[in-house]
Parts: sequence; C-alpha cells; structure tokens
Amino acid sequence: MKKIIVAIDGYSSCGKSTIAKQLAKYAGYTYVDTGAMYRAVALYAIENLGNLGNLECLESLEYLETHIHLSYAPDLCLNGTPVEDKIRSLEVGNMASKISPIPAVRQFLVAQQQAMGQQKGIVMDGRDIGTVVFPNAELKFFLTASPEVRAERRFKELQAKGEQPVFEEVLKDVNERDYRDTHREISPLKQAPDAIVVDNSNMTREQQMEAIYAIFDRHNR
Ligand code: C5P
Repeated sequence: MKKIIVAIDGYSSCGKSTIAKQLAKYAGYTYVDTGAMYRAVALYAIENLGNLGNLECLESLEYLETHIHLSYAPDLCLNGTPVEDKIRSLEVGNMASKISPIPAVRQFLVAQQQAMGQQKGIVMDGRDIGTVVFPNAELKFFLTASPEVRAERRFKELQAKGEQPVFEEVLKDVNERDYRDTHREISPLKQAPDAIVVDNSNMTREQQMEAIYAIFDRHNR
C-alpha cells in the first residue's frame, strides 16, 4: 500500500497529539510530535540559559547544532536524557511558545522534521506542518475547538497530574498562547488552504477518530 504524509496542525490543547498518535497506530505509521521538540529546546533554555536575557544564543544555528541533540529511544531524549516527563508543564509550554518564533530554532527543528518525513508513512503534528514543513503533504488536518473547551481539557489534565491549576489562569494561558502562535512573524499558525478542518468542541473522541479514519481510508484507496 502506498505511504503518505499526514500533517496535523491546530491550536494548543486541541487533542492534536492524542489524535495524531491514534491515527499513526491505525495506519501503522511513525508518529512525530513537533511540539515536544520545541518543548525540549525550551527545557534546555530553562535548565541552561537561566533567564530570558540569555536567550540570544538560541539565535545561532551553530550554537543549537553544537549544544542541543534530540534523539528518540523511542521516547524523546535531550542530549541523551529522556525528557517526556519534564516537558509537559505550563512553564515549559510557555517557554516553548517564546523560543519558537526564533528563526534559527525553527530552521534547526524544521530540517530534522523534514528528514524524518523522507520515507513517508508519517503522521506529524504541530503548527506549521501543512504550511511549512510539508506543504505537499498528501493529507492535512486543521484541528480546532473553542478556547473554553480547550482550557477545560488542559485544566483536567493538570489536575490529573496532581497540579492545582486555577481555571481562569489556564484559560488566560490558552488565549495568550493562541495569540503568540497566530501572530508571530515566521510560520504563524494558520490553516493550509487544502487542510480539512475538524472542530472537535462538541465531538467525543470516538466520533472524531471515526471521522478521521474514514478520511484517511479514502485517501489511501
Ligand atoms: O503542541 P505543543 O503545545 O506541545 O507546542 C508547544 C509550543 O511549541 C507551541 O505553543 C508553539 O509555540 C510551538 N510549536 C511551534 N511549531 C510547531 C509545534 C509547536 O511553534 N510545529
């Protein structure tokens, strides 16, 4: 059967990763979470660069290539250490959306993402996958849900992790992140003209997956 590239873009806390992971399993494809890559660079910045004043070194591609090595074993590792359990906090998410507009950071990560797609058979999720990383992807989804629904989901996720979030703060964070992701100069989050829009505000996970599997199957006939 032919293999394709599936690009999944959308707002934060839309369930992109869960959907992309499930679709990859269904299709027998590799799943790549590009948000996790930006989060790993953010974690590096928090742990090694102290405060925002020191972020200039991330503007150098040479610095990034020398100091930041991402690998999969199979979980994401930063310089050889698994980081999955550290990168999901609000602090790292906020830093990720601050470092993601830096052109060298995007160049550094986009090159790695494009290399991963060379063999096709990949489901990749992020903000710029259908527009910048793989503008020729055979199948593109753009996921969306209302900010309140997304904040509610994020609130419950944080609670489940033992954190004590305040709903208003989580909603504010969702809105701020949306603003930064859609207004940055390079590769802002936007819908590719050929993307299929899925608004999952009022859909159960099962309804949504059935719809997505059916579209995928149609593309692979
Ligand atoms: O998807 P996730 O919330 O894990 O992404 C964290 C941050 O990384 C986003 O807020 C966004 O700023 C950035 N990002 C990006 N481009 C991608 C994926 C994530 O700029 N392809």
